[in-house]
Amino acid sequence: MNIRKEASVLSAGVPDEGQLAAINAFTKSPLTAGEVYCFSVRLCDDLPDRDFERFDTAALPALAALFRGKTGIIDHEWSAERQIARIFDTDVCSDGAVTYLRAWCYMLRTEKNADLIAQIEGGIKKEVSVGCAMGRATCSVCGQDYGTCAHRKGERYDGQVCLAVLRDPVDAYEFSFVAVPAQREAGVLKAAEGGEAMTLTELVNKNGSPDLRDSLKALEKDALFGRSCRESLVNETVALGLLLDFGAEEELLRKAFSALSGEELTRLKAAMAKKSAALFPPGAILPNTNDHPAAMEAAFMI
Ligand SMILES: [Zn+2]
Repeated sequence: MNIRKEASVLSAGVPDEGQLAAINAFTKSPLTAGEVYCFSVRLCDDLPDRDFERFDTAALPALAALFRGKTGIIDHEWSAERQIARIFDTDVCSDGAVTYLRAWCYMLRTEKNADLIAQIEGGIKKEVSVGCAMGRATCSVCGQDYGTCAHRKGERYDGQVCLAVLRDPVDAYEFSFVAVPAQREAGVLKAAEGGEAMTLTELVNKNGSPDLRDSLKALEKDALFGRSCRESLVNETVALGLLLDFGAEEELLRKAFSALSGEELTRLKAAMAKKSAALFPPGAILPNTNDHPAAMEAAFMI
């Protein structure tokens, strides 16, 4: 599952010698301390957030490794021009009450970046959002995979608030300076970040790599095929319903059967086919099907 969270800039300034060496491991030609601007970001921690989710403390070191080398951008515009900062080092910090993942980033002191640097310096640009993919989430009440038990995050069980605990980091994505922190309290942060307010297609077309776009196309093709299979399955089950003469009209049967899941529909169709085979063995005289042409077809259906 893809996760996106808020984060914040911790400190900023000129890199020291060790940091500069780490930065230069990522650059084509060595940079001097005066050419780079260095800042740290608190990427995520193990405290519950307002989505009633928290990162598993044990997952933070693995996430730290995944975030190393990732880029920072403004407003999730995933184009080369916008990749303005890079994470050159990460570490996991703990102050007793909380364990958090800190990223050390650098950006070039260019004219283009001057405004942003001034905003970070002035404490104006300090809202950052980060994205990562986590392998699974577990329920904090019972420990089962979240969604497989009856507990719901945010609800209280014996005085304990249920949380989804995010585990098994799979990947880390870019981080982004957030342009509209003022809207955070309104709960529209995710939408503003191109999360929930976008369709999957819009999201992939805007931010996805060519590989992702290809894989979405393949999925769409499969979905189209799936839909046509489902339509045939509904048609066949309706035809069986008419043949078995439930006394309900075709429209009502279609409406009822369309509401079933694919698996339920398959099971129902199998049961009805069995019943119709028992009632109308091969060679038997078919019931009067003049009123129901679809039933006639169904009798010869394989
Ligand atoms: Zn549970």
